[in-house]
Amino acid sequence: MLASSHFIIGASVGRLSGNPFLAAFLGFVTHFLADLVPHWDLGYNFSKTKKSYFLVFLDILIGIIICGFFLWWRPTNWNDIASVLLGGFFGLVPDFIGFGVKIFKIKSFEWYVHHHDRLHWFIKEERPEFSEFKIIPTTPRMVFFGLLWQGLIVVFSLIILWV
Ligand SMILES: [Zn+2]
Repeated sequence: MLASSHFIIGASVGRLSGNPFLAAFLGFVTHFLADLVPHWDLGYNFSKTKKSYFLVFLDILIGIIICGFFLWWRPTNWNDIASVLLGGFFGLVPDFIGFGVKIFKIKSFEWYVHHHDRLHWFIKEERPEFSEFKIIPTTPRMVFFGLLWQGLIVVFSLIILWV
């Protein structure tokens, strides 16, 4: 999923948990569940270019800004703020780990990348874990439905953050 989606979903389960430690744990676990949902994300078109890195940075920033807005919008307390932000951050951690394993080619964690990638929709072919980042062909239809389902879940998460 998009980093912004992961951040928002993690933030919403974090808020539901009402406990910063639980939020971190649930944010991490929910990442893998969210990846099971049919989705499209920047990983399908990632190449090691400045543009790709910039888009990922922007993606993360959008998630943080949206959650920040919701924190600012409604009356809250420090426990709530910590739960939302930790839930959101740990919602990204599984992707940070996968990224680190790929970039630094950490052989002992190859299994992690393999299983994490397999959760993702649209990856129909096996790909060698350390074959660099491969651009996966996507059709407009795949992108549309990939954004539709994750969009619905993000809206649901935003409602949780809002109420
Ligand atoms: Zn993931």
